[in-house]
Formats: sequence, C-alpha cells, structure tokens
Amino acid sequence: MSQPGSVKLENIVKRHGSFTALHGIDLEINPGEFFAFLGPSGSGKTTTLRILAGLEPVNDGRVLLDDVDVTHVQPGERDVAMVFQSYALYPHMTVAENIAFPLKMIRTPASTIESSVKEAAAKVGIEHLLARRPGQLSGGQQQRCALARAIVRKPRLFLLDEPLSNLDAKLRVETRAELRRLQRSLGVTTVYVTHDQEEAMTVADRLAVFMEGRIVQVGTPKEVFLRPANAVVAAFIGTPPMNLMPATLADGQVSLEGASLPISGVQVQGTRDVTLGVRPGDLRIADPVQRDPVTPDQGAPARGIPARVEFVEDLGDSVIAILTVGSQHIKMRLDQHADLQEGQQVFLTFAPTAAHLFDRQTGERLP
Ligand code: ATP
Repeated sequence: MSQPGSVKLENIVKRHGSFTALHGIDLEINPGEFFAFLGPSGSGKTTTLRILAGLEPVNDGRVLLDDVDVTHVQPGERDVAMVFQSYALYPHMTVAENIAFPLKMIRTPASTIESSVKEAAAKVGIEHLLARRPGQLSGGQQQRCALARAIVRKPRLFLLDEPLSNLDAKLRVETRAELRRLQRSLGVTTVYVTHDQEEAMTVADRLAVFMEGRIVQVGTPKEVFLRPANAVVAAFIGTPPMNLMPATLADGQVSLEGASLPISGVQVQGTRDVTLGVRPGDLRIADPVQRDPVTPDQGAPARGIPARVEFVEDLGDSVIAILTVGSQHIKMRLDQHADLQEGQQVFLTFAPTAAHLFDRQTGERLP
C-alpha cells in the first residue's frame, strides 16, 4: 500500500426518521490531501464528517479508510482525530493533561507522553501554556490546544469541524494559514468542514461543495471558481458571489434587457433560455458614446446591458456598486478610483470569456 490516509465514501445514505440528510454520497480523498467540505448550513457537511469519524451510523453505503471497510468500526478503532467547533477541552485538566489524554487512552508510557506533549504543543506554539487550564486561555489558544491534542497521536486522518469559527476575523485568517502549514508539515490527510467559501478556497487542495445532502461539485478551488458546475454553486462561490441573470442564447450572443453581447465557447442550436453568470469583478462599464467598431459611421448605441447605479460601497481597496438590471439587483466590483454616482444610468459589458452560462431549467453549466 502507498502512503496511508486514503478515504473513500460509497453511496452513503443517512436518514433521520423520514428526513434524508445524505442522499448517496460518493467521494474519494487522496492520502495527504487537505480536503474541505463546503456548503450552506444544513447541507450535510457535519453529518458526513461524523460518519467518517464513526460517530454516526449510516443507513446505506460504505466508508473505506486505506481501502479497508470501516463502516461498522468504532470511533476509537479508526485511528482518526477530530477537532470540534467547541474544542471540547476538559476544563478540569491542564493544557498538558488535555494534550496527553489521547496517549493515555492508548496506554502510552509516561516518559514518551511528556516528550510527545511538548512536541505537539511546540508545533502549535503553546509550549509556554502547558500548566494552565482551558478557562485561563484565549479562544485562539484553546483552539491550538485542541489541535495539539489532535496531532499528538499522529492519526491517519484529521477531521476538523469549523475549527476557526469561534475566532475573530483577524485571528481566523492568521490561524488558517498556520493550519495549512501545520497540515503540510505533518502530511496527514485532513478533512475540513466550513460554510465559509473564502476559508475553503484558501486552505484546501480540493473541496466538495455540498447542497441539500448531495455533493454537487468536487475540484480544486480554482476549478470550482472558474467553472462552477451549476448555478447554485456559482451563486455560492466568490465575494461577492457571481451575478445570475435570465437571458437567451443564440448565434454566439447572449441577449438580455435589449442588449446582445458576444460570448465564447458555447454553441447551441437555435435559441435557448439560459441563466447568464458574470462575476462582479468581470463586469465593465461601457463607454456611452462608443460606436460600433465594425460600422462606426452608423453611430450605433453602446452595446451593453442598461443598468442603474443604486448604491456605491467603498471598501477602501475597491468599490462595490449595486445596480439594477431589469427588476434585479446585481453587484459590480470596481477599482477604488471608479467614479460612479448613485442614480446614474450605465451600460454594462464583459469579455466574451467572462460569461458563465447555465441551463435556465436545470441550472447545469453549459459546456
Ligand atoms: P452546519 O453548517 O449548520 O453545521 P451542515 O452542513 O454541517 O450544517 P448537518 O449538521 O450535516 O449540516 O445537517 C444536515 C441535515 O440533517 C440538517 O438539515 C439537519 O437539520 C439534519 N439533522 C442533523 N442531525 C439530525 C438529527 N439528529 N435529527 C434530525 N435531523 C438532523
């Protein structure tokens, strides 16, 4: 067998009474991968993680770790370590005792425990806090203690359930970079649950997007960002997420609100109802007096989607404008010097390659 730590889920079904929480999950995670489960609240991420940990029985399907069926194996026998959102530290024990706990459970000799605890604490930068109790630690320090407890045993799989959600925004960004480094240096397969798409995009080698108890896309962060598999994923990824507008597609042009714009890469027969997706950063303001470059003498009106600027929000390094297109609000990201006035009428364009097209009925991406 090659490097340990492979994970395979085969047709996992989970029901709670008449409610189906997971509708047949299939997934493979490679040894050493940092893999994120991303999706909105209630989409089934935590349930899937708990099934991996052995904390939740399944109604159907199989869980394989290193190609061995562990579906009915107890949590303690799976060689996995889980870090919960709440950290679940023992309040009456010191940091050192908390970290040592998993080693005591497997009856490790005391001499080995002390050095292992120090080593794990050093890796997460809390060696100076070993004598304290969890109540005497900050949120970030508690989180590190929980991590140290997870890594002390060198399991074949780490399961992290929203491990950073109790930290403030700045600490969260710092800690996720550290977590990424730690995971790289340990090389242990890691599954990371989050509903924060930015977090998933920045830490994960690959991710699975969960929606309503199904995995709707698996890929690298870049693949999911550049080619969302359907309109729901598209609307979930990106800050702000992709704008989605009803449009029609014919002859290499997408039409909406009386405007037609060229798109590339998608050919259809006849006319097709689509959902047009354009990321806020890919929208441009057309020059209002721009002439048709092919027949400039005809003085055709600017070829763009008519829109009205409703609100301009200055984020410091960029500007987010909220505009009305038809009866819909969309968002546009501009550079800090953009001079847009609230109430202004503009025409929007985008590069032919910036258009994402989805079937209007099914939401599936058009190839
Ligand atoms: P969150 O980000 O809010 O933790 P999640 O994606 O992790 O969400 P799960 O916790 O996996 O979602 O829950 C999936 C679905 O299963 C939810 O609709 C939840 O309400 C439901 N569910 C979970 N546990 C139970 C239970 N014991 N009984 C009934 N329904 C449950």
